[in-house]
Amino acid sequence: MPAGTTSGTPQVLLAHHLKQLKLPTVLREYDKIARECARDGVDHPRYLLRLVELALIDRERRMVERRIKAARFPAVKSLDTFDFTAIPSLNKMLVLELARCEFILRRENVIALGNSGTGKTHVGLALALAACQKGFTVAFTTAAALVHQLMEARDERRLLKLQRDLQSVMLLIVDELGYLPLSPTGAELLFEVFSQRYERGSTLVTSNLPFEDWTSVLGSERLTGALLDRLTHHVHILTMNGDSYRLKQSAGRRRPPTAADRAEQNQTTAETVDPETGETSKP
Ligand code: ADP
Ligand code: MG
Repeated sequence: MPAGTTSGTPQVLLAHHLKQLKLPTVLREYDKIARECARDGVDHPRYLLRLVELALIDRERRMVERRIKAARFPAVKSLDTFDFTAIPSLNKMLVLELARCEFILRRENVIALGNSGTGKTHVGLALALAACQKGFTVAFTTAAALVHQLMEARDERRLLKLQRDLQSVMLLIVDELGYLPLSPTGAELLFEVFSQRYERGSTLVTSNLPFEDWTSVLGSERLTGALLDRLTHHVHILTMNGDSYRLKQSAGRRRPPTAADRAEQNQTTAETVDPETGETSKP
């Protein structure tokens, strides 16, 4: 059949094919951009380039959205809204470096330690968002929810599947380790998760407890030692001790950072941690 004899046919077929090819942006935009290009005297290769570039940008945006949805964030937070002056103990340069997500490529871990309300979850979420934007798969959970999920999966004989899923994400965030003591089985299941991810993927843990108190959550000293050994082998520690941001906000108080705070924030080296004592040191 000669082209153009049945008016509307090419458009209908094109729409069908573009749907088959899963190119919704091309379908939505090709006509509008064609008219713009005709108006501007833009040639065919450049027309196609504009269209394909738009499709690429759109696809990337949709993939980021999909990764954010799959990660199950309790809220979306970014570093743009994080006030570093409110928490001088936190090494700002290290956080900014971590937001580049190279630690995920190196399969290194991050542990944020500090009292309640100091922004640990906020920073965890912000790093997780950065990871989604850079193309990494992410999962966010709390220690209590994770253990609950693991126990439930074990009872329903689907533990292996869950463990495999947890192992496959590139960044796993385990928030709030320390608020609730775990049962011996719960502690063992959590240990297995960290152990299975060891040197295979990055894990970010936040805790209100210093390392020496982790035994009170995990129950056994042997298990805590083995867990910390794996978790802290390649680790960046974020020290987040300070006043609760919530309380400070409600009290309406703020103190400007001192020169000493700024000096500390300018240090870019990662801290290393002694798993025995939990003491941190800079190389
Ligand atoms: P934590 O997990 O350490 O208990 P959160 O991250 O939940 O603390 O912080 C409590 C609330 O205060 C959150 O709404 C968080 O976004 C906000 N917040 C904490 N620290 C900061 C900060 N330095 N700048 C901006 N918001 C902050
Ligand atoms: Mg928190």
